[in-house]
Amino acid sequence: MSTSFIDADDVGVLESPEAVLSTLDREGNRRWIYPVPSKGRFYRRRLVVGWALIALFVALPLLRIGGHPAVLLDVVRREFYLFGAAFYPTDTFLLLLLAVGLGLGIVLFTALLGRVWCGWACPQTVYLEFVFRPIERLIEGKEHVRKRRDEGPWTFDKLWRKGLKLAIFLVISLALAHVFVAYFVGWDRLLTWMQGSPFEHWGFFVMMAFTTALILFDFGYFREQMCTITCPYARFQSVLLDPDSLIVSYDEHRGEPRGKGKKRDGLGDCIDCLACVRTCPTGIDIRDGLQMECIACTQCIDACDEIMDRVGKPRGLIRYTSERALAGEPTRIVRPRTVIYTLLMLVVGTLFTVALVSRGQYDVNVVRAPGEPFVVLPDGQIANRLRFRVRNQTPKATAFTIDVTAPAGARVQPVGVMPVPLEAQQMSRFEAWIIVPPEAFTNGTVESTLVVSFDDGTVEEMTFPLLGPSS
Ligand code: SF4
Ligand code: SF4
Repeated sequence: MSTSFIDADDVGVLESPEAVLSTLDREGNRRWIYPVPSKGRFYRRRLVVGWALIALFVALPLLRIGGHPAVLLDVVRREFYLFGAAFYPTDTFLLLLLAVGLGLGIVLFTALLGRVWCGWACPQTVYLEFVFRPIERLIEGKEHVRKRRDEGPWTFDKLWRKGLKLAIFLVISLALAHVFVAYFVGWDRLLTWMQGSPFEHWGFFVMMAFTTALILFDFGYFREQMCTITCPYARFQSVLLDPDSLIVSYDEHRGEPRGKGKKRDGLGDCIDCLACVRTCPTGIDIRDGLQMECIACTQCIDACDEIMDRVGKPRGLIRYTSERALAGEPTRIVRPRTVIYTLLMLVVGTLFTVALVSRGQYDVNVVRAPGEPFVVLPDGQIANRLRFRVRNQTPKATAFTIDVTAPAGARVQPVGVMPVPLEAQQMSRFEAWIIVPPEAFTNGTVESTLVVSFDDGTVEEMTFPLLGPSS
C-alpha cells in the first residue's frame, strides 16, 4: 500500500464538528489534498471514458456537419449550430425548449445515476485526474514526496520541479483555452486570428489570455474547490437525489464497528486503513455517509476493493449502490419522480421536434435603413430605403427577390443586384428603395405589402409602414 501522508490531525479535521469543508482547516485555510491514485477496475474504465471525452471535446468544434461545425455557439454573431441543426435568436421558443429539455435531462439523469456525470464525464474531473495530476506526479513524484517537499523550504530541486510543472500546465491551459474558445467563434476564425498580430485582434488576445489564466488557476490551484465550493450542480444534489439514486457508498452494516488489527472478533470488515480517505480527490471520508463533496469518482471503491482483496474479504465494502439497497430493500428505477421527469421530457421533446420541423424555412426581417426617413424624388415620388435581413434556414443554397404589391403604383429599386444569392444556413442583408406615388400617403404614412420570393417557390409576405409627406 502507498505510504501514508495524512496524519491523525488531518483526519481529525474531517471528523471535527467545527470543520465545514474537507479542504479547509479550522482557521479557514486551504488544506491541500494529495490524493493517492487507486488504479483499480473503475479507474481503468474512467481513464478510457475520460480520454474518449477529451478527444470528443477537441473534435466537436472541428467536425463539420452540413458545412458547419458540429457545435458552434457564436453569441456575438448570434448563430448556434448543434449537430447539423441551426438555431438563431429568433428561435426563442426552440432555444427555450432546448434549455428546459436539457435541465430535465440533468434532473432525470441525477435522480437515476446520481453524480455519475461528476465522476466520469465532467471536464473538471477528466482533465484534473487524467491530464494535470498525472503530469504533476511525473514531475514532482508521489503524494507523500510532494507533501514533504511542499512543506519544506524552497530548494533548487523544488524550484525546477515547480517551474517545469507550471510551464507544462501553462502550455496545456493555452491549448485548452483555444479549444474552448473555438466553441464560441469556430476554428476558421480562430486560426485566422492566431496567424495575425495580437494588436489586430486584441479582443481575442485578451479573451484567450483570460481563459488560459482561468484554466491554469483552476487546475493548478483551485482544483477540488471547484466541485466543493463553486459548482452549482453540487449544491442541488440534496434535492435531485432520493433513496433510490445510484450513489457511491460505504456499507456501514458490513464495515462497522471498524477497527485495526488481525483479531477481528466483534469487528466489521473495515480495517480502518484510511485508504479510501487517502485516495479521495475531495478529501472526504466516505464512511461518514453521503456528502455534498462526494463527486462519485469511485476512487474509494477501487482503494477499498484492493484492501479487501488483501485481507481476503469480498469486494464491495464501498460500492455503487443506493440508500434503499443499503437498507436491504430493492432499488426502484420506476418511481414517481422518474416517471414525471420522463413524461415531461417526452412532452418537451415532442414540442421541440414539432417546432423544429414546422419552423419556417426562411426568416425574413425588414427595418428602416439609417438616414432620412424618406426621400422626395425629382418626379415627386416618395422613396423609403429599407433593409432586409433574410436568413436561409434550409440546407440548400437559394436566391431571393423582393417585390412590393401594395399600395398601388409602388415599385422596388434594389440597392445591388437581384436575385440575391444566399448560401445554405446563411444570412444576408440587402437594401432596397420602395418608391410610392405621393397620393398614396394619408397623414404621412402608408402601409406597404412586401413580398420576398425564393428560388424554391417559397414566398414570404409582410407589411411595413412607409413614411412620406403629411400633406
Ligand atoms: S479502504 Fe475500506 S477498509 Fe480501509 S478504511 Fe476505507 S472502508 Fe475501511
Ligand atoms: S468519497 Fe469516494 S467517490 Fe466520493 S469523491 Fe471521495 S473518492 Fe470519490
